[in-house]
Amino acid sequence: MKIVLFTDLDGTLLSLSDYSYDVALPALAELKKRKVPVVFCTAKTLAENEYYRAKLGIEDPFIVENGGAIFIPRNYFSFEFPYSNEQGHYYVIEFGARYDELRAALDAIRSETGFKITGFGDMTVKEVAEDANLSLDQARRAKEKVYNESFIFDEPEDKEPILFDKVQDKGFNITHGGRYYNIHGINADKGKAVKRLTELFRREYGAVMTIGIGDSKNDIPMLKAVDQPAIVKRLDGTWLDIYPEPENLYKAEGVGPAGWVEVVEKFIIS
Ligand SMILES: [Mg+2]
Repeated sequence: MKIVLFTDLDGTLLSLSDYSYDVALPALAELKKRKVPVVFCTAKTLAENEYYRAKLGIEDPFIVENGGAIFIPRNYFSFEFPYSNEQGHYYVIEFGARYDELRAALDAIRSETGFKITGFGDMTVKEVAEDANLSLDQARRAKEKVYNESFIFDEPEDKEPILFDKVQDKGFNITHGGRYYNIHGINADKGKAVKRLTELFRREYGAVMTIGIGDSKNDIPMLKAVDQPAIVKRLDGTWLDIYPEPENLYKAEGVGPAGWVEVVEKFIIS
């Protein structure tokens, strides 16, 4: 049966401490040899995805900005399918809201509440680099957001419910992961994008077994949309809590990319 691997990047295939992935290179080569599609499913932007696709030699479709859109290389599938638009050498299926609408919603919330909200769009490349601990090039790519906006909410925690209500009143969704809050369209999550792409893979290959690997909260919709969910350990040695926990959830002992290799070896290249 055709296996398709969906994978998160930060903290999963990429080490969260230094964005390294060297430990995963032999397993990636083996997946390539076996023609197992490796589908990035990440919060990262198009520019960031393209950077890691080139680095790792991956040519499969990918899901950007937490399910904001699927990018499918032209000629990847042998049949025609509906898409939102064409960009460069990709067909794009969009789920997310537009960046300018999200920015306008944040502006409105700021003026209605006086909350200190600072989006990536309000920060220079240098400020994003310093705040997110990225190089200038990484920060430049991270700022190229189209379907979601990350922001700092510099207010006491008890103000958080007001922020969440305001975002929902404006017709958008909000998530909070680590340092940044994220505002995005209500139809955009990793799970919806994984399901749509799985339909396309099934049309191409018939029976398909999907595996998903992640490490944190924004991966839960993806983990629930695949046949075999797996999580890797986080830097602090804990696993993500999922309620209810999928019966067949595999918890890798390794942290980040080491755990990723463990999952690939167990389910694909054993
Ligand atoms: Mg992650």
